[in-house]
Amino acid sequence: MNEKNLIKNLEHLSKQLHVSEDHRNKANDQVIAYGNDYMNKVSELPGYSNKYEIIQGLEKFSFNEQGQDLQLLIQAVQKYVDPAGVNPASGGHLGYIPGGGLYMSGLGDYMAAVSNQYAGIYFGGPGAVKMENMLIRWMCDEIGYPSSSFGNITTGGSIANLSAIVTARDFKKISGDTIKKSVVYMTEHTHHCVHKALRISGLQDTIWREVSVDEHHRMSLANLRYHINADVKAGLIPQIIVGSIGTTNTGVVDPIDEIATVAKEYDCWFHIDAAYGGFFILVDALKEKFKGIERADSVVMDPHKTLFLPYGIGVLLVKDQNALAIAHQYSANYMQDAEHEDQEFSPAEFSPELTKHFRGMRMWLPLQYHGLAPFRASLEEKWRLCLYFYEEIQKLGFEVGPVPELSVCIYRFVKEGFNTDELNKQILDEIHKDGRIFISSTTINGIFWLRIAIVGFRTHLKEIDLYLSILKQKIAQLLD
Ligand SMILES: *Cc1c(COP(=O)(O)O)cnc(C)c1O
Repeated sequence: MNEKNLIKNLEHLSKQLHVSEDHRNKANDQVIAYGNDYMNKVSELPGYSNKYEIIQGLEKFSFNEQGQDLQLLIQAVQKYVDPAGVNPASGGHLGYIPGGGLYMSGLGDYMAAVSNQYAGIYFGGPGAVKMENMLIRWMCDEIGYPSSSFGNITTGGSIANLSAIVTARDFKKISGDTIKKSVVYMTEHTHHCVHKALRISGLQDTIWREVSVDEHHRMSLANLRYHINADVKAGLIPQIIVGSIGTTNTGVVDPIDEIATVAKEYDCWFHIDAAYGGFFILVDALKEKFKGIERADSVVMDPHKTLFLPYGIGVLLVKDQNALAIAHQYSANYMQDAEHEDQEFSPAEFSPELTKHFRGMRMWLPLQYHGLAPFRASLEEKWRLCLYFYEEIQKLGFEVGPVPELSVCIYRFVKEGFNTDELNKQILDEIHKDGRIFISSTTINGIFWLRIAIVGFRTHLKEIDLYLSILKQKIAQLLD
């Protein structure tokens, strides 16, 4: 066989990867039917199922030379993937920080993947890059950042926090001998991804100061000042302060404006992890809590949490775009064609990524299609639902933590003659077994708390009332 015939033979098989219109029509119908089926029953789906054994069915699908029938594959997903574990699309998911999964975002992902626009560099995909940059600018404007700010759309909050820590590290020149003298200030409620980011970025040998919190679990300013003064006296260098807008444990907002003042006074990088709470800034009634956010050096928010997008999207915003660029700069000879541009920044210059998913589309499409109003309304609804739950749960005899600031509430049942921790662990267990509503727990100062986070856009009064009625029933049973 000559070389050309060999190539032609390969081409014949290779062409199967481009799906013809006939096959496409059929495949589209099958996948859309799957999506519609899911959407039609989503409000009835449980928040959690402990049938983990079903996933073993996937083992039947080894990777072979021959392709499989699509319907069979869709059925495999329906049987072996969808029914087990936490269901993030369910309105009954009230554990950890729920996700959502906007349908329009799914269609945005479809469009992004079909065209496969190159979103890493302006030269390659100017429209995709422009779209992402407009989203970043919109978020910078929302938090009151100047035009000299910029950011990056990442895969999630952890990676956004990692990029923030790397940016702070390079801006503050924390390297070599200064590492061991540099101090990072956090609280016990700082998300563990910040510790992970410090370790990954080579800052594991910095000093991590746990600033104490007040009775509302907010960073204590007096204690922050106390530690910084003591550290300066000891010849150490205060470098980074990490505040939270919406801690994972209790949804608390640290005193942002006041921390910003301290950070400025001592020349520290002030980072805010607002992965969960950030988008509540869209709610007028909650704006006051965000006072001072524009004074932070960097802010992380997660559209796959409080903007209800499917998993796989976080955002880092940095007030000084140069700081972000310096920490992520690169150059290579094979990139020379792409380096003559001045109209739009390229994501690759502000992120560890080069080639990346056209991630902006999954956010741009739903924001444009629905408009901002339903997002604001849904977030305000979540906050008010949480306040409602806070009142109602006390009527059932539960003890509660501080009034919810955003949409997280902690509560526990206390009854004479019962071990409180054990009793609440049993309640959690019963709720998980029931499965209709999924919740999680946390431990603060050695005390076990039940916890709900109301974040899903499909969570409404009906789900909260259902949960209250389940609790009432389970408690009656347990006390019996
Ligand atoms: C969820 C969360 C993170 C981590 O974000 P991922 O998107 O899960 O990587 C960080 N900080 C806070 C406060 C969070 O709620």
